[in-house]
Amino acid sequence: MWEQLRDGGGRNGRQVLVYKCLNSTNTTALNLAAEGAPSGTVVAADSQSAGRGRLGRKWQSPPGLGLYFSIIVRPRLGLSDLTKITLTAGLALRTAIFATSALKTRLKWPNDILWQGKKMAGILTECGAESAKGRPVIVGIGLNVNSGPDDFPAEIGQRGVSMRMAANLFYDRGRILAAVIEAVEREVKRLEKGEFTAILRDWRRWDASAGKRLTWLKPGGMPVCGISLGPDEDGVLRIKDAAGLIHQVISGDLRLRDEETRP
Ligand code: ATP
Repeated sequence: MWEQLRDGGGRNGRQVLVYKCLNSTNTTALNLAAEGAPSGTVVAADSQSAGRGRLGRKWQSPPGLGLYFSIIVRPRLGLSDLTKITLTAGLALRTAIFATSALKTRLKWPNDILWQGKKMAGILTECGAESAKGRPVIVGIGLNVNSGPDDFPAEIGQRGVSMRMAANLFYDRGRILAAVIEAVEREVKRLEKGEFTAILRDWRRWDASAGKRLTWLKPGGMPVCGISLGPDEDGVLRIKDAAGLIHQVISGDLRLRDEETRP
């Protein structure tokens, strides 16, 4: 099955390394980047045994059903621009899902793609060490493509969704992989040209949380409840609490109100 990935991803002469199983495509991509792999290199796997999410969480990556891949980019941007890259990749992923399936997904700051409130994809952006070639950034993407309801473990259950479940159709993973890679490359170029304001305008159109009640589980602090004002011009999320105070969210856990009943 993973030949399908190679056929789709390797178009346009870019290097796409496809593995049957990896611990984590981000870990392999970080290692390759440290060895000097060029910008645009893609590491994909049919399954991951220790797929990673934010905050040390696990990304479920069963074989034959999803896309798990990492793109090495070497943007001419600073470390503080990591959130901008995550938002940019999210917009690209949303665009590619729509282009290949007509599914209308929404974006949950900073890194999730939701369909009707359920998680279809996640992004994990990580930074490699600085070298003569600059600092590599790894954009890791996990997308549920052909999984069915029984393919999600109990702890995810109803909170996960795939393209197949949403559209009642099976998809060619290679074709989707190619579309996502192209979209990420295109949007990252836009970011490098200084067009983050325009990217953000597009991102906000699909914001799943804007105007909704959110709880922010602030690292090491009391939970903050309030209304999401969406990301500011630097991509930092703002939440307005009941007293009118505006909080800037840089990291931590965010729950949309309708997610709060989950275990
Ligand atoms: P959330 O906001 O949903 O808590 P997060 O943004 O903090 O997630 P992520 O890095 O996006 O964390 O993803 C990890 C979480 O996503 C896991 O803790 C699990 O709840 C959920 N998850 C793991 N694998 C999948 C999957 N294949 N499909 C949908 N959800 C998944």
